[in-house]
Amino acid sequence: MKEDIQIAQETEMDSIKDVAKDLNLSADDIELYGDYKAKIKLETYQRLLEENEAGKLILTTAINPTPAGEGKSTTTVGLGQALNQLDKQTAVALREPSLGPCMGIKGGAAGGGYSQVVPMEDINLHFTGDIHAIGIAHNLLAATIDNHIKQGNELEIDPSQVLLKRVVDMNDRALRNIVVGLGGSKNGQTREDGYMITVASEVMAILCLAEDILDLKERLGSIIVAYTNDDQAITAKDLGVEGAMAALLKDAIKPNLVQTLENTPAFIHGGPFANIAHGCNSIMATKLALHTSDYVVTEAGFGADLGAEKFFNIKCRFADLTPDAVVLVATARALKMHGGASKDNLTEENLEALEAGLENLGKHIENVQKFGAPMVVAINEFDSDTEAEIEMIREYCEERGVKVALSQVWAKGGAGGLELAEEVLEIIDQPNDFELLYDVEDSIADKIETIATEIYGADSITFTSGAQKDIEKLAAAGFDDMPVCMAKTPASLSDDPNLKGRPTGFEVTVREINVSAGAGFLVALTGDVLTMPGLPKKPSAEEIDIDKNGKITGLF
Ligand code: ADP
Repeated sequence: MKEDIQIAQETEMDSIKDVAKDLNLSADDIELYGDYKAKIKLETYQRLLEENEAGKLILTTAINPTPAGEGKSTTTVGLGQALNQLDKQTAVALREPSLGPCMGIKGGAAGGGYSQVVPMEDINLHFTGDIHAIGIAHNLLAATIDNHIKQGNELEIDPSQVLLKRVVDMNDRALRNIVVGLGGSKNGQTREDGYMITVASEVMAILCLAEDILDLKERLGSIIVAYTNDDQAITAKDLGVEGAMAALLKDAIKPNLVQTLENTPAFIHGGPFANIAHGCNSIMATKLALHTSDYVVTEAGFGADLGAEKFFNIKCRFADLTPDAVVLVATARALKMHGGASKDNLTEENLEALEAGLENLGKHIENVQKFGAPMVVAINEFDSDTEAEIEMIREYCEERGVKVALSQVWAKGGAGGLELAEEVLEIIDQPNDFELLYDVEDSIADKIETIATEIYGADSITFTSGAQKDIEKLAAAGFDDMPVCMAKTPASLSDDPNLKGRPTGFEVTVREINVSAGAGFLVALTGDVLTMPGLPKKPSAEEIDIDKNGKITGLF
């Protein structure tokens, strides 16, 4: 089969004006970024929310990811295309790719095979500049802190208690820990600092949760950047820059419109980390898709233990959304890895490993059922899958009364997703008992315990003494009535990445709890979270090239 980029480049794209027209949007509703990308104007967004009913919302999530790959984005795009083939007017809503992983090991994030969003090179390389704007808004705030300290430090910021690091959208491990202000007092106060990748910025999480520009500004103002000598929180508002930060985001806040290989409209907007943040595209993009389309397929990061849990408990809670159906993606390859097969032997049939690994799928099925939304399991087919393997997954689901469909959208585009689309359509109008897992009024410890025991399957939860102090401090400051964003390894249902399948009899340890006061959630860390990735020995960047005609190769 051809490479993703070759398939993308051979596609005949519609003009973005025509894609907008399919959504009943006129030339006045969009701002063009070339022929194939546009942003939707804020007035249009407001009008559509008032005038149009919302369509049906479908969430794509997955089993715990393995290096074998699951294909959530591919399935999201493919299902959107398949629904359109069945004459169901559908849009997809996805996250924006970050440049760091694109140049590093993961590659881009625009789907794959015959289920991609295009123009693939543009989407993966800078797109409409949103992530850069987020980086600059964040770095304005960072620069303001050091400037404030240098200019007399009226607010009495403790230089050893500055929380806000700087950001850049590249994997650059050398920047994880740095010293700023070197070279004498004319260059400011010398202190230890560090960098995160831009998508880890709270500004990104805020952009994805904001409902409009004023909400964005308000939330930016609430970011806690440092503590004073007597432990009082200092916010962006105290430094007076939330207005300038929001002004820098005046275009980034507008959702982007592109298309899939089959010209299905695709809203691609925002891409927060799925560990220290909630890992979903913006609320504005999802709502825009819902108010222009009868069906919307969207995705959440990592597996359902992190992605779907946060999609429901954070995004749906804030935006008052109800998912009408959930698609749970599994692959025979990844399930075999959960059952003990090694990454090098995945092309061989291994029913024993598959049977053992199916437990992982089983727990995710139970978890989605806890939220009450109807569900279909999508088996994302790889070339090497055998008939017996596919049959075993099907039987496992059917025995549990769960709908299951083989998805061939990577190899065949929308045509390979018709069975999946039909199964989704069968359940989507069923009465839906969707409910959130916990009440924000529950104590911080109770909320975390509910997630760990109900979703991860932990026996118990331990808070280190540091985490206990965090809870007391956060409760005293009035930050206890927020949803919790768990930062846990995506590789396991537990907090130990080596425990595959469905671990039992384990304890989850919470080491630290922070508040993202602007985003509006607490972040519970169960292990070390790397907010600045590094490049691998052979970065993808070494393969990427451009010729004299501007044609790009090597991007995947
Ligand atoms: P996720 O959203 O779960 O991270 P993606 O949809 O981005 O996964 O897919 C990850 C990679 O796996 C992409 O390069 C994609 O082309 C590839 N991929 C996905 N599904 C298949 C498949 N069925 N066969 C072969 N490759 C696939």
